[in-house]
Amino acid sequence: MVTLLNGVCDIMKYDYLVVGTGLFGAVFAHEMTRNGKKCLVIDKRSHKGGNVYCREKDGINLHEYGAHIFHTSDKKVWNFVNQFAEFNNYINSPIANYKGEFYNLPFNMNTFHKMWGVNTPAEAAAKINAQKASVRGKPQNLAEQAVSLVGTDVFEKLIRGYTEKQWGRKCEELPAFIIKRLPVRYIYDNNYYNDRFQGIPMGGYNKIINHLLSGSDVELNRDYSEHRGDFAGLAEKIVYTGAIDEYFGYVLGELEYRGLRFETTRLEIENYQGVAVMNFTDSDTPYTRIIEHKHFEFGNQTVTYVTKEYPSSWQRGGEAYYPVNDLSNQELYIKYRALVDREKNVIFGGRLAEYKYYDMDKVIASALTAASIENNG
Ligand code: UDP
Repeated sequence: MVTLLNGVCDIMKYDYLVVGTGLFGAVFAHEMTRNGKKCLVIDKRSHKGGNVYCREKDGINLHEYGAHIFHTSDKKVWNFVNQFAEFNNYINSPIANYKGEFYNLPFNMNTFHKMWGVNTPAEAAAKINAQKASVRGKPQNLAEQAVSLVGTDVFEKLIRGYTEKQWGRKCEELPAFIIKRLPVRYIYDNNYYNDRFQGIPMGGYNKIINHLLSGSDVELNRDYSEHRGDFAGLAEKIVYTGAIDEYFGYVLGELEYRGLRFETTRLEIENYQGVAVMNFTDSDTPYTRIIEHKHFEFGNQTVTYVTKEYPSSWQRGGEAYYPVNDLSNQELYIKYRALVDREKNVIFGGRLAEYKYYDMDKVIASALTAASIENNG
């Protein structure tokens, strides 16, 4: 922490200024403080944890920024998070509600049986093969990718409406990789994820974040972009987890994000929809899903909380939820990357700084790698 500036000995207060208390920042800070480094972690919000933050109401952990279901196949990440909380055995099995018709997700034999009355994998494959014949060659966009995976019926009822609401554009204008996040299975299995490990931390995500940040100084309600000067000379290095275009003052233009609006209601009943996640896959319902939070933790409270999730366009100053990784945004991001390479002593990490549709486990893995590079040179 001692630097020589013009021959004068200058003691910096911190080794790292970490901008953002979300998973990337918190994991990084934990790994560095474990190694004897001093970190100041700041956040513009009034709470820690970024988008994994939960608010407790009537004994129910509300996922304030949308459902966060932890899943990973990375043993190292799984062992890492299990140091800070025990995980329950929640398995995500959402229901797709298309105009009152209910289908199981992800796309599996239960879905195909309900859609077509087929009973065997061979019958389902025959239906899908016939319907995907319209797609020739490698799928060029999300619509073609979806049809080639599950056929036109599933695409039109369970994918098109949901996807176009979520992303605010036609499936024909979206990258194919987004739909490849979802498994397609020719077995009767409603587990939404293929990953080996899955669950919700008992006691909530806040418990993990509090553990991770326990060795750091934390300051909330501190906006780095607006008050950058206040932090100059405070730390040897900066770890920045905010939006990359915001960091550079939007000099090259704005990257596109999707926003979300949440509408939460307390209901004086025990059980509203019988499942944690219900997707509304038609195009008329303005929200994409209703989350009933208590089911993430098998709650038996006498009341329940439900949240409607409305996708929205994003404007500067609003919370950016999803990067829109289409071609033009990717090209702009690559230009910002060139600026990053010139920035000395700043580490960029996480969904917003890397403009990447990261799941939680991938963010943790990336923060562990960044910390290990710092620790081992
Ligand atoms: N998707 C869909 N219908 C659904 C659920 C998901 O078409 O009922 C598509 C949609 O395009 C979405 C993508 O699958 O963007 C990925 O869904 P995922 O559940 O991984 O989204 P997240 O949980 O990150 O919002």
